[in-house]
Amino acid sequence: MNYDVIIVGAGPGGIFAAYELASKNPELRVAVFEAGYALSDRKCPIDGVRVKNCVRCKSCSIMSGFGGAGAFSDGKYNITNDFGGTLYQYIGRREALELMHYVDDINLAHGGAGTKLYSTANTDIKKRCMQNKLKLLDASVRHLGTDINYVVLKNLYEEMRERVDFFFRTPVTTVTVLEDGYRVHTEQESYTAPRCILSVGRSGSKWMEQLCRALDIPTSSNRVDLGVRVELPAVIFSDLTDELYESKIVYRTEKFEDNVRTFCMNPKGSVVNENTNGIVTVNGHSYEDAEKQTENTNFALLVSKHFSEPFKDSNGYGESIARLSNMLGGGVIVQRFGDLIRGRRSTHKRIAEGFVTPTLQAEPGDLSLVLPKRILDGIIEMVYALDKIAPGTANDDTLLYGVEVKFYNMEVQVNEHLECRYPGLYVIGDGSGVTHSLSHASASGVFVARDILSRVKSAD
Ligand SMILES: Cc1cc2nc3c(=O)[nH]c(=O)nc-3n(C[C@H](O)[C@H](O)[C@H](O)COP(=O)(O)OP(=O)(O)OC[C@H]3O[C@@H](n4cnc5c(N)ncnc54)[C@H](O)[C@@H]3O)c2cc1C
Repeated sequence: MNYDVIIVGAGPGGIFAAYELASKNPELRVAVFEAGYALSDRKCPIDGVRVKNCVRCKSCSIMSGFGGAGAFSDGKYNITNDFGGTLYQYIGRREALELMHYVDDINLAHGGAGTKLYSTANTDIKKRCMQNKLKLLDASVRHLGTDINYVVLKNLYEEMRERVDFFFRTPVTTVTVLEDGYRVHTEQESYTAPRCILSVGRSGSKWMEQLCRALDIPTSSNRVDLGVRVELPAVIFSDLTDELYESKIVYRTEKFEDNVRTFCMNPKGSVVNENTNGIVTVNGHSYEDAEKQTENTNFALLVSKHFSEPFKDSNGYGESIARLSNMLGGGVIVQRFGDLIRGRRSTHKRIAEGFVTPTLQAEPGDLSLVLPKRILDGIIEMVYALDKIAPGTANDDTLLYGVEVKFYNMEVQVNEHLECRYPGLYVIGDGSGVTHSLSHASASGVFVARDILSRVKSAD
């Protein structure tokens, strides 16, 4: 065997698994294979001046490379079982929370000290939400910010690089099952280990699907979240963001009784493109450094769509809708809320005349030609509901970017060790469908590393 443990994917799941293994048992030979670039080489070519739109790089630096999809994200570590994944269903609520706090401690020790931990406990905002048919979910949020998140990742890498073999720009093509372990194939060579951790995230969703098919690993897939990213002057949301930074608020629509929720709130942040498997959708982030902040706050409004049998391709459904916006707008479409309500498309002129300056260059258009009526109606209802707790949300100039899609990787069937039907083959992070966030993905990495460490110890 070439290694004791091979990890596929250097996102938060893979990084925290490697970190735990290397720091608790430096004797272990650990390798990490990553399709994207090393942290210092990750660069999205969109600079807003020369390159304004996604040029569909072979390896998207927003989604791939050391740090995973989290490296240039806002670095919001939500410490909660209320959202961000269902890790607790496998390992228990207490352990899941303990691991998230453990990850937080590691982040603080590697450059995150001094960043703020926000909490929903004892806030009046909860009451205001309740009074307006909105529910504020409970959480503590560590906001590292894109800049500090980068520093933490850099420090973690520096600490690990002597003890862990990192292979960047080395996508794993497939994994084969051996009698006593696994063979991990890359375009050049193959490597073996008795244990393998697959942590391929959202960008590896298609790859994971193929592998599960090839190895006959049971999966299920029935959910996709669709919606828009809202951008408005930061001051409109400042009551919420100053106190909570990010608030996860849920609204139940009157018309269809669907749940619409806020997601990934970025005070004084920027709206960005996201490229998943060649489809351009929208996302957002913000910096801790005041110099890099904008005058706008952005957040997503998402409606979860659950499908029942016989339909199985929920991601395919989301992709088709995202493709429609790419077809009409060449990428992401932006529309003023006032234009949407009046049933007309936005134009460059109307947006330029508005009071909100977009932070993303997107094509003005009409989101009602893209999003299904039921989803759009839910979003409009939610904007009016939010207007009651943050007056101004429903202003005509509020910008809606579409589409934002949260693709949920199909759920890979794993046991309470996060191991699939093959002993020693772990599937973790967003690629497993079990987690959907930095904190849950990182916690799942620590969890499987500890599982491996205890098995190695008992075998000694
Ligand atoms: C713009 C943006 C902002 C976000 N903001 C937040 C936030 O503030 N808070 C939050 O909780 N979450 C946020 N998220 C989501 C968060 O980043 C993910 O939940 C988290 O990164 C999942 O970690 P992971 O390790 O499971 O997967 P990923 O971070 O996706 O990492 C998987 C890695 O595996 C690699 N890979 C894939 N296939 C292969 C292969 N075949 N061979 C080798 N390598 C492979 C990929 O290149 C990637 O680097 C954001 C996401 C984006 C895109």
